[in-house]
Amino acid sequence: MQVPMADPINTEIRLRIMNAQRILVVSHVRPDGDAIGSLLGLGLAIQTSGKLVEMVLDDTVPANLRHLPGYQQVSQRPKDTCDLIVTLDCSDLKRVGKALNGYNVPDVNIDHHPTNLNFGKINLVDPSAVATAEILTRSLPEWDLPITKDVASALLTALVTDTLGFRTSNVTSKVMRMAADLMDVGADLPDIYGKSLIQRSFEATRFWGAGLTQLQREGPVVWSILTTQDRKASGYSGNDDADLINVLSAIKDAMVAIVFVEQSNGNIKVSWRAQPGVDVAQIASSFGGGGHTAAAGAEIQGTLDDVRSRVIGKTRDFLV
Ligand code: 5GP
Ligand code: MN
Repeated sequence: MQVPMADPINTEIRLRIMNAQRILVVSHVRPDGDAIGSLLGLGLAIQTSGKLVEMVLDDTVPANLRHLPGYQQVSQRPKDTCDLIVTLDCSDLKRVGKALNGYNVPDVNIDHHPTNLNFGKINLVDPSAVATAEILTRSLPEWDLPITKDVASALLTALVTDTLGFRTSNVTSKVMRMAADLMDVGADLPDIYGKSLIQRSFEATRFWGAGLTQLQREGPVVWSILTTQDRKASGYSGNDDADLINVLSAIKDAMVAIVFVEQSNGNIKVSWRAQPGVDVAQIASSFGGGGHTAAAGAEIQGTLDDVRSRVIGKTRDFLV
């Protein structure tokens, strides 16, 4: 793979990894393909040098990603002390949930969200990257870390999922070449594409069904809710929306799609998706969340009715 020119941040990260023996790699709650793919991509790459790596997430690995090599190593809390902490795909420290409780400020923050708060001691944040894994794919050779077949499979999973199968507006020929390079190392694109993006469980599909029957439209906004009761009735075990938001975002003529998901902690998880020209990251940030222009989220305190009316009100105000 082509080795890019080293910049000072990359050089510093390379030295930090080189000098550390016990490395803690962390990503965000309700993990998606980029969270898991980046976690395994960096974690497995560092492990090849014989260093101890803990890969930690506050939640468990979603079922559609439990085919990736190394996923069994992911745990919900660190077991040991460490001399380097790296966060991946987290725009703020709240995103790691309780995974880092009692640990220091992260040393290295690697992310691609424009809303990133630069909370690390070293911040490698590139909002032009389609996924955090794009930054890793570029940087691993610079850090003298190998892109093995297993690392490539993890990284390609992240590229495929964060671009919804290479169809988001930020996909460039450079990204396609990067994907091709990962395939050359052995990552199986059709297999990854099918397992991580297309196949879903019966329960997840029933959960979608509950969301679709509750679909509403208010002017340029389409929205739906998923309650704890819907989750129980469908048998779906995740605390996310099983990707319902990406179904709603396909609705023609809607400027913004929103899904509200009741959480077991009593909060409401809100996901926004927008047509080009609308920046939902700004709306999400005003509720304490963040994300990208076209895809953003927040976890908000309050009842479903209260959060729904506040969020839809603010979103509609934003659109006029
Ligand atoms: P989703 O709606 O699929 O959970 O997330 C859409 C985008 O917004 C992703 O890039 C995700 O990382 C970000 N995001 C989702 N929820 C939150 C949140 O609570 N806080 C922040 N800062 N970003 C979020
Ligand atoms: Mn991402």
